[in-house]
Amino acid sequence: MAEPNPELFEQVVNLCKRRGFVFPSAEIYGGFRSTYDYGPVGVLMLRNVKDAWWRSIVQLRHDVVGLDASILGPPQVWEASGHLSNFTDPLVDCKECGNRFREDTLTDPTTCPNCGSKNSFTEAREFNLMFKTQAGPVEGHGADAYLRPETAQGMFINFSNVQHATRKKPPFGIAQIGKSFRNEITPGNFVFRTREFEQMELEYFVPPEDADRWYSFWCEARMQWYVDHGMRPESLRLRAHEPDELSHYSSDTSDVEFLFPWGWGELEGIANRGDFDLRQHAEHSGKSLDFFDQGEGRRYVPHVIEPAAGATRAMMAFLMDAYHEDVVNEEKRTVLKLHPRIAPFTAAVLPLSRKSELSDPSKKLFAELAEHFNTDYDETQNIGKRYRRQDEIGTPFCVTYDFDSIDDGAVTIRERDTMKQERIPLSGVATWISDRL
Ligand code: ATP
Repeated sequence: MAEPNPELFEQVVNLCKRRGFVFPSAEIYGGFRSTYDYGPVGVLMLRNVKDAWWRSIVQLRHDVVGLDASILGPPQVWEASGHLSNFTDPLVDCKECGNRFREDTLTDPTTCPNCGSKNSFTEAREFNLMFKTQAGPVEGHGADAYLRPETAQGMFINFSNVQHATRKKPPFGIAQIGKSFRNEITPGNFVFRTREFEQMELEYFVPPEDADRWYSFWCEARMQWYVDHGMRPESLRLRAHEPDELSHYSSDTSDVEFLFPWGWGELEGIANRGDFDLRQHAEHSGKSLDFFDQGEGRRYVPHVIEPAAGATRAMMAFLMDAYHEDVVNEEKRTVLKLHPRIAPFTAAVLPLSRKSELSDPSKKLFAELAEHFNTDYDETQNIGKRYRRQDEIGTPFCVTYDFDSIDDGAVTIRERDTMKQERIPLSGVATWISDRL
């Protein structure tokens, strides 16, 4: 069984800043708490995480279609979903130091963790986690609107639109990737919990009698997805919710958890939600959201299995799991052992020298590889330093064009994890790499 490693947290956060994965947002103005910007390699990696999810959930499945719903929504949606009344945390303020805490996360509810005062807390108040704004041109007179706190409701309210447009019949799913917003009281642990984050959600609609079977299917499939994309099985577990953790409409929920440096934490929740969501929206909107099965001559409200994952949180877990330090030639080497589909760059082209006899053909090779996958090009510094840089951002294959290449038309490919080098013909590089993806 793997153990949490508290040091790893600082190591990964430092690497993220140094190499351009994630920067604190608005840093030159002193930062804006719990918001982050994804830098040049971070944006590539985050896209790869989302693409890998989309590929497995939408592209490779004939029974799932995609959606990109709006972020702004009217209060009716959130009344029906229960977010307006239930999506709250109990908050207390310390009367001595003024700091605010989530009551349910205090280790000692009588003592302020900031100033140590005893019995200094106000009565708990319910605090809604949704960001509210006004849509319309006149300050204070617009219509109330909310930033979505999850992408899921977009799929529920479009159930009939999508079903009619695609003629899909349960079991079928609607999938979406996009930003969600929650005014979290205790954001933190880097991008684990932020107020603005990205989700990858699937709502899979099934005939009621098949719900249990599909719930088990999706629990297994979603665990496997992380493993297939390079996460070590010992860093993952599937934890079924205890009966007192379940929401009133959900018969089963399991979390895919990852062993973060501070302990196990949720990556994704898979819930058997019954017909709660479609029924709520049908009642509140007055529009039918049921399905008529012509073959069987029966009408029913489909049940929903929901695998709901965080893209930004998954990216952080992939980074933490891939972080390794080893010693090469008596020097510390930091390497991200990321799966080639998740690593920001699949390949890097490194001419041995900046001379045009090497850099010109190297740029040609770059242009060829870049047609197929994210490719980096780097001709600064000595080759050893460039290899180290690529190791640190997790590039699985470095291709070096040297002086011999001019004569023998071959290049050296260095593999990140084993550091083994292989000489192969220039014309075969793209295929050699594709074969290993
Ligand atoms: P948590 O218990 O960690 O707050 P949750 O159970 O409220 O999460 P869900 O509503 O099930 O989360 O959302 C699905 C996924 O979205 C989570 O598993 C997580 O990966 C991601 N997620 C939720 N809230 C945040 C956040 N504030 N920052 C980053 N990712 C988040």
